[in-house]
Amino acid sequence: MSAAPDAVVVGSGPNGLAAALTLARAGVDVHVIEGAPTLGGGCRTQELTLPGYRHDVCSAVHPLAAASPFFRSVPLATHGVRMLQPPLPLAHPLDGGGAAVLDRSVAATASRFGGRDARSYRRMMAPLVRDAGALVELVLSPIRRLPPHPVSSAYFALLGVPSVTHLARRFTGDEPRALSAGLAAHAMLPLDAPGTGAFGLLLATLAHFVGWPIVAGGSDQLVSALRAELDAEGATIETGHYVERLEEVEPARAILLDIGPAQLLTMAGGRMPAHYRRSLRRYVYGPGVCKVDWALAGPVPWTAADCRRAGTVHVGGTFEEIAFSEAEVAIGRHPDRPFVLVSQPGVVDPTRAPTGNHTLWAYCHVPNGSTVDMTDRIEAQIDRFAPGWRDLIVGRAVATASDVALHDRNYVGGDINGGAGTLVQTMFRPVPRWNPYRTPADGVYLCSSSTPPGGGVHGMCGVHAATAVLADCYDIKRTGRGGRT
Ligand SMILES: Cc1cc2nc3c(=O)[nH]c(=O)nc-3n(C[C@H](O)[C@H](O)[C@H](O)COP(=O)(O)OP(=O)(O)OC[C@H]3O[C@@H](n4cnc5c(N)ncnc54)[C@H](O)[C@@H]3O)c2cc1C
Repeated sequence: MSAAPDAVVVGSGPNGLAAALTLARAGVDVHVIEGAPTLGGGCRTQELTLPGYRHDVCSAVHPLAAASPFFRSVPLATHGVRMLQPPLPLAHPLDGGGAAVLDRSVAATASRFGGRDARSYRRMMAPLVRDAGALVELVLSPIRRLPPHPVSSAYFALLGVPSVTHLARRFTGDEPRALSAGLAAHAMLPLDAPGTGAFGLLLATLAHFVGWPIVAGGSDQLVSALRAELDAEGATIETGHYVERLEEVEPARAILLDIGPAQLLTMAGGRMPAHYRRSLRRYVYGPGVCKVDWALAGPVPWTAADCRRAGTVHVGGTFEEIAFSEAEVAIGRHPDRPFVLVSQPGVVDPTRAPTGNHTLWAYCHVPNGSTVDMTDRIEAQIDRFAPGWRDLIVGRAVATASDVALHDRNYVGGDINGGAGTLVQTMFRPVPRWNPYRTPADGVYLCSSSTPPGGGVHGMCGVHAATAVLADCYDIKRTGRGGRT
């Protein structure tokens, strides 16, 4: 760094880059500092197993990016980014050879359930999908203001605030109930926890609204596009520099930290008043994940044909099985039959592996900080619905929850969402505060997924933090593009 920039962004995950770009577009002189050798945080792609096999290290499936006002403001196609829609967003195999399916349309999804469940699904989802734009605006907002669309927001809250256990009572068949459980389990909470319904409903609505795309070539292509935009705006970027103390990046008019509360305490705790430090210490991290990537000699031979056409496969059986497995994790146990989230990019992207070969990505939830390798249990779950698939394995890379935490300091104990997704903590993260992005230290802001709207590749935590900086330091009330507070 030569002359001190106006603003420094520490951390280059999707939120750090979104914050930097929002500021740079407003004419602010921005410098980005990343600790790892490459940009991207949870949005990186690497040859984790064998040469020629490109694996998404963290995020793989991008409904949130597809819906995000920030990513919509980036000319992704101009930078060569292609969001690929698999024939089916999601399939969920069940014992006996069948599968529940989340199709692009509500009607197609419902028609597979048949009878009363079909009517229930249509009745529940149609209003959400009709007002999907409003729902996206609500869930990706900083939450502190009144809902922009009160009627559709109230409908979503009415259905989603109770648990998915409650929500799934409107279905009788195994298929819609299992589908509901798998969608809601993304919350990484017991399925009877309040708010789990909302997680499931949001993901289902996004499948119908924007699909669950994967990025051609790998998630890192999104980051390359953001980097190109930052370069064009004249922002400067430094990698391989982990900032340990805030003093290292001063002076700057604004410092935006793409980090969580745990690091904020060590990096700048002395600058924060005691009550804020106490609140940060009360912040709760959720379960971790154990992730496995495979290089395969062919596609997974799922028994259910629908699973062979789906970009994502939820492996865990019935509602009751998934509920049991998530409850086990919540009380600190490693389930014997974990709920496994599988992404198979090869269904739609042949560039991830040498011709005819495939990559496979999967993780399951485990207690926070776990060092247990869940490979055998994950592989056995997949084998239940794709017997013999292990014969295709030519390479494998495993990351326990502790390894995930080492890969990125924000994933404390392997929690990939930057903090537990409880209802209260989703709305008020990292601490209950009118503007959660602003810390009590002058000019210091948080912009990571530990602020609203939380985890996922959408960049909106960064946009909202940058918007606060623009208002506080530059008297600019709106960013114009990529959302506003
Ligand atoms: C296994 C896994 C699977 C996931 N799957 C999906 C998915 O399919 N879809 C989806 O939408 N989301 C997914 N996510 C979640 C998503 O990746 C995160 O929510 C998102 O990346 C959060 O963005 P962020 O900018 O807040 O933080 P991060 O992406 O975590 O980036 C933070 C960056 O800051 C850097 N940093 C931290 N501390 C310092 C420091 N002191 N000095 C300098 N640099 C620092 C880190 O190295 C990192 O690059 C997944 C995550 C994981 C781990």
